Amino acid sequence: MSDDAPRPYGFDTLQIHAGARPDPATGARQTPIYQNTGYVFRDAEHAAALFNLQEVGFIYSRLTNPTVAVLQERIATLEGGVGAICTGSGHAAQLMALFPLMSPGDDIVVCNRLYGGTVTQFSQTIKRFGWKAKFVDADKPGEVAKACGKRTKAIFCESICNPGGYVTDIPKIAAVAERKGVPLIVDNTSATPYLCKPIEMGATLVVHSTTKYLSGSGQAMGGVIVDSGTFDWSASDKFPSLSEPEPAYHGLKFHETFGPLAFTFNGIAIGLRDLGMTQSPMNAFLTLLGIETLSLRMEKHVANAKKLAEWLENDPRVASVSYAGLKSSPYYRRARKVYPNGAGALFTVALKGGYDACVKMVDGVEIFSHVANLGDTRSLIIHSASTTHRQLTPEQQVAAGAGPDVVRLSIGIEDADDLIADLDQALAKATA
Ligand SMILES: *Cc1c(COP(=O)(O)O)cnc(C)c1O
Repeated sequence: MSDDAPRPYGFDTLQIHAGARPDPATGARQTPIYQNTGYVFRDAEHAAALFNLQEVGFIYSRLTNPTVAVLQERIATLEGGVGAICTGSGHAAQLMALFPLMSPGDDIVVCNRLYGGTVTQFSQTIKRFGWKAKFVDADKPGEVAKACGKRTKAIFCESICNPGGYVTDIPKIAAVAERKGVPLIVDNTSATPYLCKPIEMGATLVVHSTTKYLSGSGQAMGGVIVDSGTFDWSASDKFPSLSEPEPAYHGLKFHETFGPLAFTFNGIAIGLRDLGMTQSPMNAFLTLLGIETLSLRMEKHVANAKKLAEWLENDPRVASVSYAGLKSSPYYRRARKVYPNGAGALFTVALKGGYDACVKMVDGVEIFSHVANLGDTRSLIIHSASTTHRQLTPEQQVAAGAGPDVVRLSIGIEDADDLIADLDQALAKATA
C-alpha cells in the first residue's frame, strides 16, 4: 500500500489547504499576513545565491512575500498549473502575461467578447508599447487561425465572457493556438477554476481578476497569472525573453534553466522586479479567505443565476436573456459540455423598453447594487453601454454583448426569491 501514489485531494480540500501550512514560527493555523518588505539573509553567500536565482527564497516583497506565495500556490493548484504570479489587479495580470511574450511590432489575436476594460487596454493602451491586438469572433476558429500572422505571439479569450455570459469553446481555440505554435491565454475570472479548468483544455496561461469571485465579497483588488508549464518556449525563435540569454541576469536562459517553470520565474524575476505590479500581503490574505469557500459560493451563484434567468425569460417586459445555462440559449449545449458545473452567474437582460427602461431599472432596484464590480456575494446590476463599455464604439458594444438595450446582472448568493421580488418591482418602475 505504501508504494501507492497518494489519492489526489478534491477541490473542496484544496481550496482550503493548498499552499498553506501552520506558521513555522508560531503554529498559527490561518496564513499570517506578512506585512513586511525585506528579509534577512543568512550571510553574504546566501544573498548572492538568491540574487543569482540559484536558490529560491525571499528577498524583497516586490518580488516575493510569504502570504502572497501561499495564494500563488493555492491558485496554481486549483487551476492545475505549475506556478503562478500574483499581481495588484486583473489588468496588471494581463499586461504581465503579455510582457515576456511581446516585442514592439508584435500582435495578439483576441476574442471580441471581452470585459470592457480589457477591450480598452488591448485596443488603445498597449499600442504605446508598440503592441497590437487583432479582434476576432471566437465562434469562428477559422477566423482566429487566419488572423494569426508571423508576429502573433498569443491568442487571448475569456472562458465565460463578461458581460453577456457567452461561453467560449476553449478546446477549439486551443487547437488553433497549438497549430499556430502560440500560447493560448484564457481569462478565467467569470468562471473560476470551480466551473472551468482552461489548462486541462489546452490553455498555456490562465489569468484572473481575483478581485471578483476568488476574493468573492468585493473586498480586495488582485490578479494572477497561472502557468501551465506545458509550452515549449524554445520550439521557435518567437519568444526570445524565455529562450534566449537574458542580459539582466548575466545571460541566463529562462527556459533552459527552469524548464516548465520558465514563465513563472521570468514573471517574478523580471516582471515583478522591473514592472512592480505587486499584490499586497493584506489583499493576498483576504483573497485566501475568500477562496476557502469558493465552491460553496459558486454552487449558490449558479443555482440563483439559473432561477433568475428562467424567471426573467418568462416575463413579458423582457425581450431576451443571454444566460448560457438556459435551454433556449444557442450556447446551452456548449455550456453543458465545456462548463459541466454551471454556466456562471453573469448575464444580460434585454428590455422591451430599450435604453430608457434599462436606466430606470438600474435606478429602481433595492437589493441589487448599482456598481461596476462583478462576482460579489451581493447581487449587482449595471447598464454596461453607459458605463463599463462606454469607451467602446456602438459596434464594439454590440459585439461584446453590451448593447444599449441590455442591463448586466451579476447574481449574488442572497435568497433567490428576494432577488426575484426586487427585479419584479424594479421592472414595474421601469415600464410604468
Ligand atoms: C474585472 C475584470 C478584469 C480586470 O480586473 P481588475 O482586477 O479590475 O483589474 C479583467 N477581466 C475580467 C473578465 C474582469 O471581470
